[in-house]
Amino acid sequence: MHAEIIAIGDEITSGQTVDTNTAWLAARLTESGISPRFHTTVGDDLAANVEVFRHAIERADLIIATGGLGPTADDLTRDALAEVTDRPLVRNDEALDHIRGLFARRNRPMPESNELQALFPESSRMIANPEGTAPGIAIDVERPGKTPCRLYALPGVPAEMKTMFFDSIEPELRTLLPEARLIRHRRIHCFGAGESAIEESLPDLIRRGRRPQVGITASGGTITFRITADGQTEQECLDAMGPTVETIYATLGNLVFGEAEDQLQDVVLRLLDEKNATLATVEWATEGLLAHGLAVASANQPEKKSPEAQDPEPKSKPSGILGSVIVGQDAGLTALIDHESLSASADQATQETQEKSVREMALAVRTRFEADFGLAIGPLLDGSSTPSVFLALATDHGVETRKVPLMGHSAIRKIVAIKTALNLFRLKLLEEREAV
Ligand code: ATP
Ligand code: MG
Repeated sequence: MHAEIIAIGDEITSGQTVDTNTAWLAARLTESGISPRFHTTVGDDLAANVEVFRHAIERADLIIATGGLGPTADDLTRDALAEVTDRPLVRNDEALDHIRGLFARRNRPMPESNELQALFPESSRMIANPEGTAPGIAIDVERPGKTPCRLYALPGVPAEMKTMFFDSIEPELRTLLPEARLIRHRRIHCFGAGESAIEESLPDLIRRGRRPQVGITASGGTITFRITADGQTEQECLDAMGPTVETIYATLGNLVFGEAEDQLQDVVLRLLDEKNATLATVEWATEGLLAHGLAVASANQPEKKSPEAQDPEPKSKPSGILGSVIVGQDAGLTALIDHESLSASADQATQETQEKSVREMALAVRTRFEADFGLAIGPLLDGSSTPSVFLALATDHGVETRKVPLMGHSAIRKIVAIKTALNLFRLKLLEEREAV
């Protein structure tokens, strides 16, 4: 089955809006075992829309179009569909009821123009839009000598389009293509070694034609394996990936930090939670990236189960991030530590001062926040040929500092610096867990 995705709107053809709908739909179709053959983009012009739909009906068995279903004069999808299928536009009562109901629930009079949205090409079906006014349209277009082409037109608003795809279209595709093989992915993330080193330790994995297929990508120092399997059912896909996943974990050990949407900060927060421990951070010259990453991850953490409900002695000790300090400039450091003059230069004397400062930063932030751990990132040293940064981790047992080189492009150095710090901390927490 060949599919075509059509994005409609002047805002797309002019480059004002990036067409995320097509990419999203393409990924969903691929997962359902349907490979999109064409992506087409067309502006708000009736003749151009008719032309695009005509070609698509000839060359694709499934079409999903987004955009141009609104009530305004530049929304032309329904007119284009009527013209290309040679069917009159007739009122669809189900659609009209839906639109009326929506306005009634919002206590607003329905503008006459919205009635237009209930006009459907004859013998087409409505695709319900629970979140917006514009219902979608489904048509089976007869083709001489071929099976009919299934065409869906959905609104352009991404959230509405997605809901409608999951609620209505995906289930219909399953019945349309009962034989289709599903495609599923698993992503495993590693940090702490280069892409080529990781690849070399697993030479058989990236082989072309291997099943399940494994791809490897690098982003800001994070190396990700993407495993792809196909099967008749979700479980069959997961089973096919199992041994490959085991090999990756067994070979890479603690280099693996998480899967899917996991970032290092999420993993660190989970480990802190497990230990019921707290962290305070201080960073200098990483623009608050560490603080921001940890704050966002904390906000996104799933609600902690409330053990207080059953526990007669509620735990008074908090866990997680107690606070983060962002140092703006040299002078600001004095609020935290006594420090000698610092500057981001590579000469030996300065480096010693910096190491001492970052060590004191970690200790100071741990003390000030009364946290179990204090993590500090010093300024980036980019004066020498290899840019580097000092990191320090203060614990119950004292403080460790480390100078780490920052490989890669200058644009990602700060990201790599904070990931390296988070990873250092993650490994420390794992080490303590294993020691117990
Ligand atoms: P509406 O009833 O909201 O007018 P519509 O079907 O007419 O629905 P459009 O007017 O084409 O949809 O688009 C509505 C909004 O959805 C646009 O402002 C745009 O921000 C967003 N949008 C449209 N098409 C796309 C696309 N292909 N990718 C991402 N966003 C899109
Ligand atoms: Mg519109």
